Amino acid sequence: MDSDEEFVVAFEKKVFDTVKNFNLVEKGDRVVVACSGGKDSTLVLYLLNKFFGGVVALAVDEGIKGYRDKSINDLKIFCDEQGIELRVYSFAEEFGKSLDKVLDGSVNPCTVCGTIRRQILNKYAVDFDKIATGHNMDDESQAVLMNLFKSNVDLLWNSGPISGKVEGFVQRIKPLYFCLERDVVRYVKLKGFKVCLIKSCPYRVTAFRKQVRELLDDYELSNVGVKKNILEKHLSLLKNVNLKKRTFGYCSVCGGPSLGKLCKACQFIKSFK
Ligand code: SF4
Repeated sequence: MDSDEEFVVAFEKKVFDTVKNFNLVEKGDRVVVACSGGKDSTLVLYLLNKFFGGVVALAVDEGIKGYRDKSINDLKIFCDEQGIELRVYSFAEEFGKSLDKVLDGSVNPCTVCGTIRRQILNKYAVDFDKIATGHNMDDESQAVLMNLFKSNVDLLWNSGPISGKVEGFVQRIKPLYFCLERDVVRYVKLKGFKVCLIKSCPYRVTAFRKQVRELLDDYELSNVGVKKNILEKHLSLLKNVNLKKRTFGYCSVCGGPSLGKLCKACQFIKSFK
């Protein structure tokens, strides 16, 4: 096993090489990091700011009592210590209600939460060229398998370290694409980042992802490198896929990109009134 110092150097190089090899950040790009206060996005924030400087943190407070308030507080402390600008937006300020208040058991919490959070991120990242997220190799290899198992072809082909350019959307980048979760944990522990490593969202619906995660973790134990192989194979197949360009109109309420008259987020918001 490598020493802690060697590990830190190798880890940072891996992230830097991913950024460079996939052109995640280009000269002059203004980069915002979608932060939750958790280990992965905090690490992306730290490293991109270390590599390029001037990175801004953008957080969305969905209003999940006892969970998001705590992680955003950790993020505020971290950004203060690092001298990084933090902008926080909330469901309550955007449409008058927290996630806790709108859930009545009739909708999947993650669908509502993810859809509205994406809308808010896209809206406030409009002055930036890239939005970086904290997805790591474990998340991404699980996603490839989940999309395969469920035949979600659109989602399967629309994944990778960088999203395509679609008018109305800020491009998404994933600098931790080739980093194993256990290495992320090791790095943040070595650096002493004050982030919560275990507490997860009370609304998380885990059954399917949990099964896939356990399957992959088990398989990785006896076949070291299988997560990396999945992503490399996925990327090589992706090169030969001709993605149909989706064209978006504009939502009649928020003005954001939308396939219909009302975007998905505004449909949810309307149903909460
Ligand atoms: Fe939102 Fe679901 Fe993530 Fe919780 S687990 S923060 S509800 S997307």
